[in-house]
Amino acid sequence: MITLKFGGTSMASASRIMNSSDIIIGRAKKTRVSVIVSAVAGISNSLQESIDSCIKGDLSEKFVTHVRSVHESICSELESELPGFDAAPVMQKIDPLLAEYKKLLQGITVFGECPETVHCRIMGMGELMSSPVMEAVLRAKKQSVVLLDSRKFIITNGDQKEGDPDYVSTGNLLQPYRDGEDKSQTQILLFPGFICSWIGGTGKEPVPGLLGRNGSDFSASIIGSSLGVEKVEFWTDVDGIYTADPRIVKDALVVDDMSYEEAMELSFFGSKILHPKTLAPLAAKNIEAWSLNSLKPSVRGTRIGRGPFEKSGAVEKNAVRGISCLKNASMISVSGTGMKGRAGMASRVFAAVSRVGVSILLITQSSSEYTISFCVHSAQANEACDSLAKEFELEIQEGIIDPVEIQKDCAIVSVVGDGMIEKRGTAGKFFDSLATYGINIIAIAQGSSERCISCVIKGDSGDLAVRAAHVFFFHSSQSIQLFVFGAGGIGGVLLDQICAQQKKLLADQNIEIKVMVIARSKFMAMDPYGIKLKTWKETLAASEKKTGIEDVLKFVNETKPLNPVFVDCTASYEIAERYVDLLNMGMHIVTPNKRANSMSMDYYRSIRSAANTMHRRFLYETNVGAGLPIIDNLQNLFKSGDRLTEFKGIMSGSLSYIFGRLDEDVPFSRAVIEAKEKKFTEPDPRDDLSGMDVARKALIIAREAGLEIELPDIVINRVFPENFNTEGSVDEFLHRLPEIDSYFTKKMSNLKKQGKVLRMGASITGGKCFVGMLEVTADDPLYGVKGGENAFVFHTERYNPIPLTVRGYGAGAAVTAAGVFGDILRTVNFNSEF
Ligand code: ADP
Ligand code: ASP
Ligand code: MG
Repeated sequence: MITLKFGGTSMASASRIMNSSDIIIGRAKKTRVSVIVSAVAGISNSLQESIDSCIKGDLSEKFVTHVRSVHESICSELESELPGFDAAPVMQKIDPLLAEYKKLLQGITVFGECPETVHCRIMGMGELMSSPVMEAVLRAKKQSVVLLDSRKFIITNGDQKEGDPDYVSTGNLLQPYRDGEDKSQTQILLFPGFICSWIGGTGKEPVPGLLGRNGSDFSASIIGSSLGVEKVEFWTDVDGIYTADPRIVKDALVVDDMSYEEAMELSFFGSKILHPKTLAPLAAKNIEAWSLNSLKPSVRGTRIGRGPFEKSGAVEKNAVRGISCLKNASMISVSGTGMKGRAGMASRVFAAVSRVGVSILLITQSSSEYTISFCVHSAQANEACDSLAKEFELEIQEGIIDPVEIQKDCAIVSVVGDGMIEKRGTAGKFFDSLATYGINIIAIAQGSSERCISCVIKGDSGDLAVRAAHVFFFHSSQSIQLFVFGAGGIGGVLLDQICAQQKKLLADQNIEIKVMVIARSKFMAMDPYGIKLKTWKETLAASEKKTGIEDVLKFVNETKPLNPVFVDCTASYEIAERYVDLLNMGMHIVTPNKRANSMSMDYYRSIRSAANTMHRRFLYETNVGAGLPIIDNLQNLFKSGDRLTEFKGIMSGSLSYIFGRLDEDVPFSRAVIEAKEKKFTEPDPRDDLSGMDVARKALIIAREAGLEIELPDIVINRVFPENFNTEGSVDEFLHRLPEIDSYFTKKMSNLKKQGKVLRMGASITGGKCFVGMLEVTADDPLYGVKGGENAFVFHTERYNPIPLTVRGYGAGAAVTAAGVFGDILRTVNFNSEF
């Protein structure tokens, strides 16, 4: 005989029930089968909800109507689809249950409470109603089937709602149905799951009991092991057991084979796939369990059995087999000087907790013996605390034990795998993955079997932690979620570049980029599934959503994307002022915008400190020299202990062009107009000639080199002669410009005699920073830099006497956007091992 269990989703509708019945019939052709069915999907939750509402005084009618209509419509559909299925006799079995349900709910409404026995009676009705439907379907399909009442076979003690079965009694009661003993030789034995008889009360009379939520899994293993079956198949709505909850990790992988112990750890620590107690009775008798998809019966599924298994697939070669998360946990800590060196303290702690029937999920003790911490389900935390407070009342009064501490809203994230014993570094990788995504670890526990490592973290980080660990352990694709502010010159080109590379990055590098937000100053487009980049311009033009950083913060807070990157392609102060908020929300920041780095030293420091605490990156390679590799090079130099002694640079394409033209005897006014025509300058060339932009870049370099200076500390020497009027409109200014041509012609002819040229740039020396015109000799690296080219000349302790020089085009939307793109990609290589 084998056992088949069909969960709520496999019983969700007429067609799902028919599918499931076909699976049963297929198996029953070869062997006798025992079948356990759950309630129709959603019914158990609805029953629970009805109890909760009636306690608060709600009326029962609507719940009863709902439960009836679900079953009635399934039956009437079956009647029209399945010849031989008669709805009326099935509804005649269901209706008395509904009448009782209604009465019980009315009682709850009147009394405002629900005794445990009534609770168990009501909750069990889902299975009592679904099983006759399956029975009738199988009969209509001419099967030899008998519906047995699980309450007559499964007898429990302990908690009434989550009982511990008495296997000896259950074994004896089911004895007549075992293979070889069953006189009737019925091919299919059908049982409702979840329900049992509880004999733990004072009267010792059996009353309704339950096996805990999700308990039909447990019913199947109790019945299967008592009947001595060959294997138990758990039929559900996914292809097997995944490396993590597929609803949280979209690219989780199906595990082919798993040991009992691994599956037990995973389900104990929150994996919803099987009820935590399911596997123990099967492991005790070496009965194989299979997790299978009733929608796709031909898919292999996951086998759970006695390992080790042949290491076939990618998952099997991995030391870790699965990652789970148990939510709604609380951590309780007992600490104080009285804990130290005293025998029996731990046992008093745990005795006090077990006295009130609270089970412990995980324990950690500090090596100083000062503190014992453990986790329990949050629903039981207060009870455990009260019991501890009573147990240690005297010690707490004397001050040798501190008042019991409780930290609610925790989650326990666990990585599980038999292979961890042999493979070093698993724990390190796990902790790294959490740190990389800015998740703080509150406590750590490892079982002595070395099969499972668990971390206690804050509850709202549970899903993120599972995703983070999954990326590290299973090499699944790395994702980047972009929030692009500024879709003009650089931003627009960037989006087109990403659009062109998106597919290739995924195929070659396994990097998936999604753009969640594209914002201009007034409106923004936002799509939680990613904006289609081929048509981003149209999408943005059609969007009526007002641009707001608050929306981005809210979105990231709610959806917790794994690798959100805020890309600031604006020149706005308002956005630069929000970087700390964005980092604190867990976003990386990538930007060509120089504003943030040239604000006050205080703000400069607070951005870096937020990035450090949050383990996020703040990348601004394009702040100086556009696509040229400046910032990263400098950071590496200085990190490795080098020091800047002097810097000189031409850091503006327009100024490089203008002053280069002077070498060729072009009048100054002509050079400016040419530069403007070639789009080297800002729309107003005075923005370039004022030296402000160069000063910002110089400030950023100086700060990289460790100088603590502010923008006003930079000395800017004017380009224009003292009495020249720079006021008025752009046109007026350009019109007036020829007035100073002779000033420059004179300057140039003097310099020429000395073999020098004029360059406009910045220098840092002796801890001071200057911007202005530099007179440059022929042996100076800046001598030949013109035509829009940039040059950065770093004299350091190591680069001496020949300086480190970086030259090349340092402006233009395409190279700048490419630099920004490069920074974006650097966020995924951060701390991971790909
Ligand atoms: P049933 O009603 O069949 O008992 P459940 O809803 O109780 O089904 O459990 C199956 C669901 O468990 C799946 O749909 C899946 O979303 C979820 N699940 C959580 N963790 C895992 C995992 N590691 N592997 C597979 N499924 C998982
Ligand atoms: N119907 C019960 C529940 O939803 C038992 C089960 O389906 O496993 O908890
Ligand atoms: Mg289940």
